[in-house]
Amino acid sequence: MRQIGMAGIMILVTSIIVSGASYLRGGNFEWAPGNTGFIYSAVLTLGFFVSIGAGVFGAIKEINEFLIGAGTSCIVLAIVNKLFANVLYSWSFLDTLWLLAGVLMIIDSVQVKRVKEARKLQELLKAEKAEPEHLLEKLDKLESENLKAQSDIMFIHERQIQEIKKQLWSDAKQKPELRKLLRMRLYNSPVVQEIIRRFIYQFVDVIEPKIESNETPTYSALSTLGDADPKKVQSALNDLVESGILQKDLYEKMIACPQCHRTSNIFARVKCPKCDSFKVNINRLMQHADCGAIYRNEEYYGPSGAICPKCGTKLSEESQLKNVGVVFECESCKSIFSDPNRAFYCRNCASEFQLKNSELTDIYSYRLSQDVKSEAKETLTVLEVADKIGKLGFTVSAPGTMTGRSGVNHEFTLTCSKKDKQMAIDFASAAEKVSTKTVLSSYAKFMDVPSATKMIVAIPTLEQQAKDLLNTNHIEHIETEDTNAIVEKIKGFLWSS
Ligand SMILES: [Zn+2]
Ligand SMILES: [Zn+2]
Ligand SMILES: [Zn+2]
Repeated sequence: MRQIGMAGIMILVTSIIVSGASYLRGGNFEWAPGNTGFIYSAVLTLGFFVSIGAGVFGAIKEINEFLIGAGTSCIVLAIVNKLFANVLYSWSFLDTLWLLAGVLMIIDSVQVKRVKEARKLQELLKAEKAEPEHLLEKLDKLESENLKAQSDIMFIHERQIQEIKKQLWSDAKQKPELRKLLRMRLYNSPVVQEIIRRFIYQFVDVIEPKIESNETPTYSALSTLGDADPKKVQSALNDLVESGILQKDLYEKMIACPQCHRTSNIFARVKCPKCDSFKVNINRLMQHADCGAIYRNEEYYGPSGAICPKCGTKLSEESQLKNVGVVFECESCKSIFSDPNRAFYCRNCASEFQLKNSELTDIYSYRLSQDVKSEAKETLTVLEVADKIGKLGFTVSAPGTMTGRSGVNHEFTLTCSKKDKQMAIDFASAAEKVSTKTVLSSYAKFMDVPSATKMIVAIPTLEQQAKDLLNTNHIEHIETEDTNAIVEKIKGFLWSS
């Protein structure tokens, strides 16, 4: 508990009460608004009261600006009183007390700053230790608030969202369950679905940036994305890389303006080392091989063709001239030099900067990680099927759980129901054929939910042995990734009597 500032205020209050009381008791008090001494005393008293108010407010609310203001005005008033007119408060020890009160308040302002910083750090540490569930909840809240927030609030949210995501992904490195959850969360985002569709259904191998000097790099493969906000797309790409779904490769390092941090409209400038002008011309020096004359390139060319200005030989071939170097010439100060200064100019914010002050922005290309290809494909299919089934009026959840006879809760890729009819569906995908082993894990769960209709969706096909196993046990199956075909089949079961 801080008491320094309060101590200062108490000293100030006590001293004013003591001095006021003794002044009144002395019988010297006289109501004389015309008297300059009286006016002066009144102003001084008022000043101390304002200082007390500001000090109390600053100490309680922990606002150091108020404490500094109150402390400083207290010191100034005490000095003024001491130096100029000791009319009302004639005791010099009071001046000392007021000085002390002022100093204490200023010391307290420093303390307040420290306390505040420590508290902030503690909150930060607490946030870091927070459970992933908490963080996810917070993330959901922030993201939904962000949709309707003003742009300045959005900016603060955005930073917080980035921090939370960073924490979650780093936690997920040790927790495969969390990793799976975060990936599912990602797959549910429309932007992410569109990005992955590019890889899977449009056979895009790599998403490369398109770099043009007048704009920030864009990804043309993603330009037709329904949600065109490039920030959202970039954020989705970052998340996809964190999750391991996409891999990024450094494509280019671009020079960005240190003022506005943009990479577009940055132009290289060649500058005169003498007068700093950028109106610099480059001259190629050419030597006539026969006579050894050296002139600037254009000096060889006149109305009658190419002629050596020294020996007058008509030059029939360019090869008679040899490039022996370059010189730069300043249009502004006419000086000639061989080593010009170099700078960059940003046309977005009209500022010039040196290479050493510039920022370098990494631009990446993206490709789908090979090991998640089937997972991504399956998930997209599942989400699309769930969406279509939901639109038909069925109750659907992906993933869905069902309690078995044994009392165990089983998770299926998809569960759907209509009145008393229930369906448990597992999706299984493989690069070529879905193995019996994969089907067996679903089979065990299916056996525990006898009342539900059971189905396996295999992408792309099933092994013969797996097919036999399913047929023998009367488990429905379909081998396709065509969502319409899957939906038709599900519809058939739920509507049949
Ligand atoms: Zn700029
Ligand atoms: Zn010549
Ligand atoms: Zn110059």
